[in-house]
Amino acid sequence: MNTWIVTGGAGFIGANFVQCALEATDVRLVVLDRLTYAGNVQNLAQHANHPRFHFVRGDIADATAVASVFRDYDPTAVLNFAAESHVDRSIDGPEAFVQTNLVGTFTLLEAARSHCAQLGPRAEEFRFLHVSTDEVYGSLDATGRFSESTAYAPNSPYAATKAGADHLVRAYHRTFGLPTLITNCSNNYGPFQFPEKVIPLMILNALEARDLPIYGDGQNVRDWIYVEDHCRGVLSVLGKGRVGQGYNIGAGNERSNLDLIDILCAELEARRPARENPAMRQRELSSYLELKTFVPDRPGHDRRYAVDSTKIQGELGWRPAYDLARGLGETVEWYLDHPEWCEAVQSGTYRRERLGTTNRDEGA
Ligand code: NAD
Repeated sequence: MNTWIVTGGAGFIGANFVQCALEATDVRLVVLDRLTYAGNVQNLAQHANHPRFHFVRGDIADATAVASVFRDYDPTAVLNFAAESHVDRSIDGPEAFVQTNLVGTFTLLEAARSHCAQLGPRAEEFRFLHVSTDEVYGSLDATGRFSESTAYAPNSPYAATKAGADHLVRAYHRTFGLPTLITNCSNNYGPFQFPEKVIPLMILNALEARDLPIYGDGQNVRDWIYVEDHCRGVLSVLGKGRVGQGYNIGAGNERSNLDLIDILCAELEARRPARENPAMRQRELSSYLELKTFVPDRPGHDRRYAVDSTKIQGELGWRPAYDLARGLGETVEWYLDHPEWCEAVQSGTYRRERLGTTNRDEGA
C-alpha cells in the first residue's frame, strides 16, 4: 500500500486535502502536524476511525520527530502543506516563518534524502511534493499573469520564506536527484479556513455586526480558487507531474477586495438577511454593506495576483470545477452551518483583531 505523509494536515488546505485523498485514492495517509493556533484536530475528526488515516503530532523542523515518522511509516510520498501561512503575522513576527517554512522544509528534505538512499530502486517512485504559493512571484500591475517562468520577487516575510523553501526543494532535485514537485497556488477559500483570513473574517464579522476592515483603498486584486479545486490539482501533480517541475494552480477568478466583500455581503443577505439579524438590529443597520470600513493598508501590500495555469491544464488535464459564485455560496453556507467550529477555533488568544501593522504606519 502506498503511504503519504501529509504535513500540516490539520490546517485549512491540508484538512481538505486529506478528505479529498481519502475519497479519491486507496493510499494510507499520515498527517504530521504541530497543531499551532491554525491547526485543529477537529478539522480531521471525521476520519478518526478511518483505517487508512493516522495522525502524529510533531514539528517538521524537529529532525528526530521527522526521522521517526519516516521510520515508522515508510512513506512513498511527502506532501508538505505545513507552514506559517498568514502574511500579517509574518509582519508582526517573521521568526516563526523562517523556522517552519525554511528550516522545516529543509528538515523534511534531509529526511526524504536519507529515506530515498535506503529505498534502492523504489526511490524513483518516491515523491516530495512541496505546496507553495503564487506570492513568491511578488506583485503585478494591472496586466499580466504569473507563469512558472516568472522571476521570484517575494515582498512579505511569509512570501520570502516560501520562496526560499521552493528554492531548497528545487536544489535538492538538481543536486541530489530527489524526485520533487512544487505547486504554486493562488488564494484559497472554503471550509475549515481559520477566521484570520479575509473570507471567513468577513463572514463572521458581518454575522456579529462587526466592522468589515478593508485594507487601503480595497482595490488590491486576488485570484480566488475553491480549496477542493486546489486539492485536486495537487493530486494530479503528484500522480502525473514531471519530476523536478513546478506547476501553477489558479482558477482565473480575479476580484478586488471590495468586489469580493460585496459578493460575500450579498451571499449572506440571501441566507441571513441583515434586517433579521439581532446584532445588526442592535446597531440599527439594515445592510451588511454598511459595515465596510477602510483601515490603513498592510505594509508592502501586493497590488495584484493573477495565475496562469496553462501548464497544469495542458500537461495534466486539470481544470477548476467551481466558479466563484458557487464556491463563495457554499463557503458562506458552511460557516453558517458550523458555528461550533467557528467558536472552537477561536477559543485561543485570537479575537479577530487587526494584525500586521508596523510602527511605521501608525498615525500615518
Ligand atoms: P494553515 O495556516 O491553515 O495551516 C497550516 C498547518 O500547518 C496547521 O495545521 C499548523 O498546525 C501546521 N504547522 C505549522 N507549523 C508547523 C510545524 N512547524 N510543524 C508541523 N506542522 C505545522 O495554512 P493553509 O492555508 O492550509 O496553507 C497550507 C499550505 O498551502 C501552506 O504551505 C501555504 O503556504 C500554502 N498555500 C496557501 C494558500 C492559501 O490561500 N491559504 C495559497 C497557496 C498556498
